[in-house]
Amino acid sequence: MMIMKFGGTSVGSAERIKAVAKLTASYEEPKMVVLSAMSGTTNSLLEIADFLAKKNTDAAQDKINLLEKQYQLVADELLSAGEYREMSYNLLREHFSYIRSFTLDLFTANEIKCLVAQGELLSTALFELYCHESGIEAFLLPALNFMRIDREQEPDHFYIKENLQRELEKYPGKSFFITQGFICRNAFGEIDNLKRGGSDYSAALIGVAMNASAIQIWTDIDGFHDNDPRFVKDTHAIAELSFDEAAELAYFGAKILHPSTILPAKVGGIPVIIKNTLDPQAEGTTITDKASGKGIKAIAAKDGITAIRVKSGRMLLAYGFMRKVFEIFEIYKTPIDMITTSEISVSLTIDDTSRLSRIIDDLKHYGTVETDHDQTIISAVGEGIAEGSNAAQSVFNALSGIPVRMISYGGSQHNISILIPSSFKSQALNALSAHLFNH
Ligand code: ADP
Ligand code: ASP
Ligand code: MG
Repeated sequence: MMIMKFGGTSVGSAERIKAVAKLTASYEEPKMVVLSAMSGTTNSLLEIADFLAKKNTDAAQDKINLLEKQYQLVADELLSAGEYREMSYNLLREHFSYIRSFTLDLFTANEIKCLVAQGELLSTALFELYCHESGIEAFLLPALNFMRIDREQEPDHFYIKENLQRELEKYPGKSFFITQGFICRNAFGEIDNLKRGGSDYSAALIGVAMNASAIQIWTDIDGFHDNDPRFVKDTHAIAELSFDEAAELAYFGAKILHPSTILPAKVGGIPVIIKNTLDPQAEGTTITDKASGKGIKAIAAKDGITAIRVKSGRMLLAYGFMRKVFEIFEIYKTPIDMITTSEISVSLTIDDTSRLSRIIDDLKHYGTVETDHDQTIISAVGEGIAEGSNAAQSVFNALSGIPVRMISYGGSQHNISILIPSSFKSQALNALSAHLFNH
């Protein structure tokens, strides 16, 4: 079984949905097609939720009407007049009357998730209708029947495998399945999701549960590039990456993959292949456990970082200071990305600032605390680059003139990370590409 995940742009119009149906049907191998919402839909649904949270019902209603019109146009273009067009109208009526029901009711965090889930439910239902109208025998397996996270928000692998198996057993001998990315249930059985960009993660979790031959991530670019193409003009696709390299890049901000996608694939030993829906013949990027090539492979950037420095005069040369500091982050379930230490102080970075004021209050028991907001972590990644190569020197040469707040070298063998003010991000990314890749 092969997993084929298509992102928002890949299913972003009637024309794109038709192309994806034809492309997936042309693969003979048994397959599970995992779809995101059509591009823009998740953002629109979140905007509607935001209007409702602010009690701006008129604006929410306008936005819902607009979204419904857009979907009607998609249905008109996707399906021929007649039985299937009628079925698509019924489908849209059902989903949009559900979406409208939130304008009357209370609006809780859980209801927001039910609202946001409509994007993937709509794209997969329309895709299934188009397949059926075109004579493609495809079966929609509801992700809400098998995709689940536990109390710690971690995937419940056992539940996913058992329940996905049960869903598949309903269709003996069949080989073309469709499901929703992103959406899942939580430990209480409520509708939840795997966070923004989470369809990649769904594909990886399904791939591992089914022991798939490959997890294909089809997107709007010809593979994993050596730098962020939204900030740097001259970037290039990388043919091969190791799981470790791809995991570091995704974790440190490369938007092309949800940060958690690689770990399950690595554990299951399943290759992840990034392909371009707009150019299916392009080679793309293959991610396996094999390390290939030397030196820095790619640069990624993670924004929205806050740096915290805790300085302890009292604790000079004392042991136990670090433990106390880290314990506070553990208590508030706030992951730390980078750490640097000196004899009397420790600097660290976080991206989740939801509990920052309580963290700072607790840290103040152990020393003075300073924070810097609007920071960006820039990571240079390549197998073994932080093991005695001259990669660090190249990175620093490239960054001359840019104020560096923190440096992390040697924590991972594959990553050199620096922290800079976000206002220097674009300059830093461009300088690194020019120096390191020099195409
Ligand atoms: P999808 O909707 O298919 O999941 P995303 O928008 O989430 O697509 O991811 C693809 C986008 O990621 C690309 O269009 C590109 O702008 C951006 N991107 C950021 N960093 C990279 C990178 N290193 N390589 C390729 N694309 C990247
Ligand atoms: N539709 C979701 C989002 O926009 C999930 C995804 O596209 O992967 O974040
Ligand atoms: Mg994505």
